[in-house]
Amino acid sequence: MYLVADLGGTTLRAGWAQAGDLAVSGVRRVAVDGVARFPGLPTTELQARVVRQLVRLLRECSLAAPRSPSALAVAFAGPVGHTGTVVDAPTIWGPRGPELPLSHVLSRELGVPALVLNDVTAAGWRYASPEDEEDDYFCMVTVSSGVGNKVFRRGEVLLPEDGRGGEIGHLRVDFAADAPWCDCGERGHLGAVASGRGALRATGVLARRFPGPFARSALSAACGGDPQRLSAHQVAAGVRSRDAFAVRAITPGVRHLARTLAVLHTALGVGRFVVMGGFARAAGPPYLRLLDTEMSKAGGFLLPPDGAAGLLRPGAPDDDDGLIGCLRRLERSEGRRDAVPQTVFPVPDGP
Ligand SMILES: [Zn+2]
Repeated sequence: MYLVADLGGTTLRAGWAQAGDLAVSGVRRVAVDGVARFPGLPTTELQARVVRQLVRLLRECSLAAPRSPSALAVAFAGPVGHTGTVVDAPTIWGPRGPELPLSHVLSRELGVPALVLNDVTAAGWRYASPEDEEDDYFCMVTVSSGVGNKVFRRGEVLLPEDGRGGEIGHLRVDFAADAPWCDCGERGHLGAVASGRGALRATGVLARRFPGPFARSALSAACGGDPQRLSAHQVAAGVRSRDAFAVRAITPGVRHLARTLAVLHTALGVGRFVVMGGFARAAGPPYLRLLDTEMSKAGGFLLPPDGAAGLLRPGAPDDDDGLIGCLRRLERSEGRRDAVPQTVFPVPDGP
């Protein structure tokens, strides 16, 4: 029996599952006690609140599970080192604070080995197919409240020991003096312009510049004509229904993402890109087609002659990548105990 959790910028979810299960049971979800709910609180205070909340939810799941858990794994929205130490988490607790040995803390509090994975890395375990070496070289791309990526090859995620990497969301792509702010505190990062939040911001700017066309758009109907009341989900739904205003608003951000993916493909020869995350999922096939068009324009001589379409794959049509990825990763360690570095499952501290 395993406990699994997914800690994002807005929602924390946790449940339990057994090896071989296709789904996670008893899933509980709460709004994260982080920077989204308590903007302005110091990073260390938010770290403490979020950790308390995570421990509490995992304990509840442990009590509700039919048997005692033997291990747990958490998908975490930020860079995580190989030892389960969280390096940074702008979408959860804002500006950088001290590094947090989360795996160690959870092992101590829950009394079972605890694995902490970056959330995009966790998701990648859902899509990895180590038995198919030809196909098993791929890049996870997430487009939700932020943007991130991780490259997988033959059942391994390509990262250094400290977990830094796969953070294309914090690459500066917009150099204008008034470029949008990223959660990390810098301006013009890919995550600020190409995420769901970035799409919402871009739509608001365009709506104020072109009030007439906005008033005739499906987006205007969705928000009662007031762009201030739009949500990222409504923008995504507009893209999915091919609303011209919505597509036009998000295109500059998608172009930046497409160019970044074209660089990854050209530099590394990655064979497929699995595009996941709430915004991409809600915006659906029209979003992937737009990304394909922009990626094909960005070129790179390795791109197939028919464009990037063959490279881009949608993630599963659910919100369970983090939870199921954690489960697959735990099963994998179960089957290969000898292959799991000791540091992944730290020995708990005293009482
Ligand atoms: Zn950033």
